[in-house]
Amino acid sequence: MLFCSVLRMKEYDIITIGSGSAMNIVSAMMQSNPSLRVAVIDKDEPGGICLTRGCIPSKILLYPAELVRTMERATA
Ligand SMILES: Cc1cc2nc3c(=O)[nH]c(=O)nc-3n(C[C@H](O)[C@H](O)[C@H](O)COP(=O)(O)OP(=O)(O)OC[C@H]3O[C@@H](n4cnc5c(N)ncnc54)[C@H](O)[C@@H]3O)c2cc1C
Repeated sequence: MLFCSVLRMKEYDIITIGSGSAMNIVSAMMQSNPSLRVAVIDKDEPGGICLTRGCIPSKILLYPAELVRTMERATA
């Protein structure tokens, strides 16, 4: 039984657990070797905190908020 499972196993050059900043490293490696076989395992939305809930979404909220504040000051 174990022998059959081993035969069906897929093979990868790199396996990353988490698709956050680890993808920067994988991306650089794939640029130098596009035939790399990569598996990405993530328990949540792909992209990590920065793309899904951190850096990018927070800046998308902060920029318009700052703009509104500037406009309010300009009319006062
Ligand atoms: C509101 C907010 C704003 C931020 N703004 C900035 C900013 O402006 N500039 C900046 O540099 N940083 C900012 N950060 C910090 C930045 O988001 C983190 O430093 C960065 O995301 C860390 O990257 P990471 O790959 O280490 O972890 P993560 O981005 O958390 O990625 C880890 C990934 O691994 C997955 N994972 C975890 N455990 C498992 C498991 N057991 N099995 C499978 N998958 C798993 C997770 O689902 C996740 O997708 C901000 C953070 C927040 C919360």
